[in-house]
Amino acid sequence: MPRSAVRRSVSTLAGRLFLWHAVAVVGVLSVLGIVLAAVLEAYFVDQLTDGLARDARAVRETLPPAGPRLQPHVVNLGDAMGVRITIVRSDGVVLADSQHDPATMENHRDRPEVRDALRGGLGVASRPSATIGVPFRYVAISAPGRIVRIALPLTTVESRLSTIRLILLVGFALAALAGILAAVGIVRTVSRPLARIASAVERVGRGDLSVQVPEEGTHELRALAGTVNSMRGEVASRIDAVEEERRTRDAVLSALDEGVVLLDGQGTILYQNDSAVRLLGARLRSGRELVPASLAELTSSVAAGNELRETDVTVGPGGRTLHATALPIPGEDAVLLVLRDVTERLRLDAIRRDFVSNASHELKTPAASIRALAETIGAAAHDDPDAAARFAQQLEREALRLSRVVADLLDLSRLEGERKDRAVVMLDELTGEEVSRYLELAQERGLSLRMDRDGAVRVAGSARELRLLVRNLIENALQYTPSGGKVNVRTSSQDGNAVLVVSDTGIGIPTRDRERIFERFYRIDPARSRETGGTGLGLSIVKHVVENHGGTVRVESELGKGTAFTVVLPLA
Ligand code: ADP
Repeated sequence: MPRSAVRRSVSTLAGRLFLWHAVAVVGVLSVLGIVLAAVLEAYFVDQLTDGLARDARAVRETLPPAGPRLQPHVVNLGDAMGVRITIVRSDGVVLADSQHDPATMENHRDRPEVRDALRGGLGVASRPSATIGVPFRYVAISAPGRIVRIALPLTTVESRLSTIRLILLVGFALAALAGILAAVGIVRTVSRPLARIASAVERVGRGDLSVQVPEEGTHELRALAGTVNSMRGEVASRIDAVEEERRTRDAVLSALDEGVVLLDGQGTILYQNDSAVRLLGARLRSGRELVPASLAELTSSVAAGNELRETDVTVGPGGRTLHATALPIPGEDAVLLVLRDVTERLRLDAIRRDFVSNASHELKTPAASIRALAETIGAAAHDDPDAAARFAQQLEREALRLSRVVADLLDLSRLEGERKDRAVVMLDELTGEEVSRYLELAQERGLSLRMDRDGAVRVAGSARELRLLVRNLIENALQYTPSGGKVNVRTSSQDGNAVLVVSDTGIGIPTRDRERIFERFYRIDPARSRETGGTGLGLSIVKHVVENHGGTVRVESELGKGTAFTVVLPLA
């Protein structure tokens, strides 16, 4: 195993447990083995000494007196008993030896076992024999006038001890092996469930909340697995709650028309809703990407200065105007940027301003004329009654014009208000009725007015509004067609639509004005229009009615030849 792998396995709980267990088993067994071997050796030597002492006493009983018979007797006895027997005289001279010639042996008075035996006790010693050279165990006892010494080579003892040591070693090695196997077993029962729990916790950490740790093993491990499982459940329900909160917040914020951008103090974008992406034209990552630069400056100055600031900016190729408000989030290093598209509001403001000034102008002119005429009539009433009558007629015309402008303005404002009178309207019948109303006027002006009906045409909408539409188109056609001309009105159904066409053989509309004639107060020839009593609001009323009914209106015209207005509305 490479060194790093060893270091890694030792650093695991299983590795440590195994290591300490193995050290404990081997250590205890080794100490035990050494002690046991020493005890056994001592016991063995004691036993041996006892045996040799018994042999010595037995030899003492059979010994003949010193003489020529002594040496052969000792040799025979030594052979028979398997030991070395030495007989020493009290002065140390060797009298007989079962394994050696006593004549050649030195004086034995100084041998420790002999000395002890001479003092009357049991002499015991272990040492290499000076005569033979191998280590011996000596035991000596005293007999009258001499010493009987029995010796056994310790090699015999050593070989028996080696056998015992070997048995001990094998026994302890087997015990150590069993201990180590037990350690492996213990380590596995602890480390396997722990490893399972650890991997489950790791998966939970990575966001996999489907894991379920099996609750098995010891009481503690089951409790730990149970805790991990309930922790996982808790984490899952917290995440669900946070997710739910986030979804609700996203739903609320994405439903807003306002763009909402949340930035941290460093300008990183933490959140932006769909409207913000739409208004800014891109999904941004950083406040520095905010365009124009004044928006980026706005947020960074609020991030630095902590007070609310707002500004209007123009963005995108279409030049939309956004009202931007940047405000600090209290207690957090973050800035909230709210963007509101005010383009439409500004446009409507401008239209409204124009309208008010146009309307005032339209009303001012006839009102001033009326005042002047009234004064003139007052002055002329006595002196020139004829002139007074003429002025009175003029005054009536101006008053009529004034009331027409007011009536058209009222119609327009009603059209812009809420519409409640929705019903199925027979457009062909309604148009027929309106045409009939204008027949007399057409005749007066030397015009032919005809109606062409192509079946029943039903539309859903307001009869009052549709009447206004038809009336304004017919009035215009009669107005702008010179005597002798023709005005044709036709209703039909085509491709699921109701189609109304009002055409004339009148003066026509110049191409450049066709776009603008639907604007309020727009007139191609204001002087002429005023003369004929036009208010400049008729087509604007037509356009409103068409829009209220979800339809379209278009104009085709040729100067000097005539004009055709075509209104298309969805069929009921
Ligand atoms: P007005 O009250 O002046 O008729 P409208 O809004 O109805 O105002 O029409 C706007 C202008 O469009 C008119 O001033 C006129 O110049 C032109 N116009 C409308 N209808 C016709 C038509 N049938 N033929 C020619 N010009 C027309």
